[in-house]
Amino acid sequence: MVGIIANAWAARDSSGHLSPYSFHLRETGPDDMMLRVLYCGVDHTDLHQLKGELASSNTNYPLVPGHEVVGEVVQVGSEVKNFKVGDTVGVGGIVGSCGECILCNSNLEQYCNNRIMTYNHFYKDGTPTQGGFSSAMVVHQSFAVKIPDNLAPEQAAPLLCAGVTAYSPLKQFMDSGKVLRGGILGLGGVGHLGVIIAKAMGHHVTVISSSDKKREEAMEHLNADAFLLSSNEAEMKQTINSLDYILDTVPAFHPLELYLSLLKTEGKLLLVGAAPKPLQFIASDMILGKKAIMGSYIGSMKDMEELLNFWVENGLSSMIEVVKMDYVNKAFERIERNDVRYRFVLDIAGSNLELK
Ligand code: NAP
Ligand code: ZN
Repeated sequence: MVGIIANAWAARDSSGHLSPYSFHLRETGPDDMMLRVLYCGVDHTDLHQLKGELASSNTNYPLVPGHEVVGEVVQVGSEVKNFKVGDTVGVGGIVGSCGECILCNSNLEQYCNNRIMTYNHFYKDGTPTQGGFSSAMVVHQSFAVKIPDNLAPEQAAPLLCAGVTAYSPLKQFMDSGKVLRGGILGLGGVGHLGVIIAKAMGHHVTVISSSDKKREEAMEHLNADAFLLSSNEAEMKQTINSLDYILDTVPAFHPLELYLSLLKTEGKLLLVGAAPKPLQFIASDMILGKKAIMGSYIGSMKDMEELLNFWVENGLSSMIEVVKMDYVNKAFERIERNDVRYRFVLDIAGSNLELK
């Protein structure tokens, strides 16, 4: 049987320009749910993917992006246990994994060699995956989380990728018993959530930014403890050898030497920004300071659940700009020129993309 038609917006080529596009949803199997998409966050990874600039994956067009998806369950398969029609659920960066390997069995399924990305990827049967810039989506029950009742769906959207991307590597410091000094490099979607989450964990947070105009916002709106303009040598020097970690969210080439010098002995650079070009550092800086660079990819489904609870328990709130689907090309243009405070969230349900 041919599936239901979803109305979406897709890119057709590496110009990255999005326009309306319809496709057949896969059938809702016994372990699947069909969602009516309410909101979807817009991540810089979507921009990398649209333009086909990530070395880790080729872009297949037509491409429906979107991996911060909040939807209402409209249909459940016979084996679905923890969700029911009417629930509000979230879907993040992956929609499948093997379910059997050691990674899948240790809440590290995002690193499974057989993970299935939410879009620009393929299900086991070869059907392409398509993301949340769409009126509807079919998702396996293991790759959805319940959105808490007291969290607005548009607020929840950025947590599903950007939020968990900050939370997952920061979690290792949660019970350190010390006031850690953390740096957040790049104040964008992931970065601003990094500041909020690190502050809620009790860290002393320094924002390291290329934009002096974000100084006041960082200190006053996000309650950062300090702000460094990366191009200001004197300011940067004062912070040398003082940070326990830096969460690096920069989506473009940047030499790492400067930032590694801010870490204290045994400090860690937590690399999450997916710069398309190779990065560089000096070996002796790492060796003499026993420093580490650690990559981190989104978070597990468990991390996502933990973050949603942590977020609600701490009464946190992100800074988002809600826009309609017909603004999406403009939104990508603004992300590209670093002009967003701090995350666009598409109001999909309010954009007349109803199921036919
Ligand atoms: P974003 O909203 O565009 O923020 C990136 C920030 O980096 C900007 O606000 C800017 O902050 C800074 N920046 C420095 N140089 C820049 C440049 N040349 N171009 C643009 N920004 C520059 O992006 P995002 O959605 O937070 O994503 C950040 C990166 O993380 C992307 O590469 C994305 O693909 C990646 N990502 C990775 C994961 C993962 O699992 N590891 C998950 C989500 C996203 P200042 O103005 O403060 O300098
Ligand atoms: Zn696996």
